[in-house]
Amino acid sequence: MTEDFDLITIGGGSGGLAAAQRAAEYGARVALIEPAPLGGTCVNVGCVPKKITFNAASLAHALADALDYGFDVTVRGHDWAGFVAKRQAYVQRLNGIYERNLAKQGITHLAARGRFTGPHTVEAGGRVLTGQHIIVATGGRPTVPGIPGHELGLVSDDFFGLTSRPQRVAIVGSGYVAVEFAAALRALGSEVTLLVRQDSVLRYFDAYLQEGLLRALADDGIRVVGQAIPSALGRGPAGLTLETADGRSHGPFEALIWAVGREPWTADLDLPSAGVGTDERGFVTTDDYQVTNVPHIYALGDVTGRVTLTPVAIAAGRRTADRVFGGMTGRHLDYSNIPTVIFSHPPIGTCGLTEVEARERFGPAVKIYLTEFVPLYNGITDHKPKTRMKLVTAGSDEKVVGCHIMGPGADEMLQGFAVAIHMGATKRDFDETVAIHPTAAEELVTMR
Ligand SMILES: Cc1cc2nc3c(=O)[nH]c(=O)nc-3n(C[C@H](O)[C@H](O)[C@H](O)COP(=O)(O)OP(=O)(O)OC[C@H]3O[C@@H](n4cnc5c(N)ncnc54)[C@H](O)[C@@H]3O)c2cc1C
Repeated sequence: MTEDFDLITIGGGSGGLAAAQRAAEYGARVALIEPAPLGGTCVNVGCVPKKITFNAASLAHALADALDYGFDVTVRGHDWAGFVAKRQAYVQRLNGIYERNLAKQGITHLAARGRFTGPHTVEAGGRVLTGQHIIVATGGRPTVPGIPGHELGLVSDDFFGLTSRPQRVAIVGSGYVAVEFAAALRALGSEVTLLVRQDSVLRYFDAYLQEGLLRALADDGIRVVGQAIPSALGRGPAGLTLETADGRSHGPFEALIWAVGREPWTADLDLPSAGVGTDERGFVTTDDYQVTNVPHIYALGDVTGRVTLTPVAIAAGRRTADRVFGGMTGRHLDYSNIPTVIFSHPPIGTCGLTEVEARERFGPAVKIYLTEFVPLYNGITDHKPKTRMKLVTAGSDEKVVGCHIMGPGADEMLQGFAVAIHMGATKRDFDETVAIHPTAAEELVTMR
């Protein structure tokens, strides 16, 4: 017997949940297939536990600064296991809230893996569902390099399961997960070696922030090793040792974390049964409306490989439901000017074009505004981290096409500036906005 739905969503992470819930609001009969606790990567092994860990690391920095602010504090350590238990309890609370919300909205949740058996049919846990529309929102999984001994390393999912903090840690990778984990572990007391393929981190970010972050990581005591292309991972009596292609040996380490990227999670889906196409890296390809090559099947979020962030998956999911079930013809997500924050220490916020991208697009019409300063907060601390800001403008009206910030508060600061950039603000609009003093953000409206 088959069960019929207006919408089947495969995957109950950020994108799948958003699409399913919005479709149900329009009265659609919806089934959501998700075998793991609801919430996907973000809630279980991504943004949420990561941000809580970032908060713990921020507290460690604040405790170090407290002496300079006159407090007589003695820190006798950090209870990692207790912290992880609280963090996990919070995640479980969120899982429960999602579960109850689905029930309230009348969405059928199947706690099983979904697999296409035809263009309109999906099998999950022995049940066969028929969907007029189907959304693939199965996200991604951490990539592990195919080198000997790779299984001795951990991935980001494992990091969140660690019940003790490794003292000597290697992190392989230069993306946001690598720098966030490196900065957090270092702040909480680990000796961290960050091994990167080239000589920088966050290579798709503006060079000004790359340089600034590299310096900040080194100042915090993180050892950054460049030109490190892993060739083998082994375990000896003293711990793990990583060999790199140039013959160097790194270690020993208590733990090594692979943070070398993520790949689409489509292995169990049997996409060919539905005729759904992927690109050469396995990401499901879609048009601007999240529609795959099969007109009633959509894909969104990390499984498409396009701007792999939670709010992007949510926005794409809601817009797709608005269009398909809410009658909002033409509604779709505009992927330009999406703000991004890296929760490193210090955090980074960026929106729009890097200087290099802007020069490629606008040539000599680009004008750059830069500033670097020690924030007022650090005026009386021994630790003197530098905040960096850059505005990239283009054209005779100096439209702000890029905003790049590194420093405490960058994470919270960026959202408002992203609104301004989204609305097409010019440098003059920034200049005409009265500053808020004393803040770091005021520098963005007073740059000359
Ligand atoms: C360490 C880390 C930190 C991150 N931090 C941030 C951050 O700070 N901010 C931010 O915006 N983004 C962050 N992200 C990215 C964010 O988590 C993802 O962009 C987001 O979760 C993507 O949502 P999604 O719905 O596409 O996929 P997911 O949230 O990954 O959900 C996909 C779901 O599909 C399920 N699934 C897979 N196969 C099947 C199947 N065959 N049948 C049924 N279900 C299936 C999986 O179990 C999973 O629950 C982070 C990611 C990581 C790894």
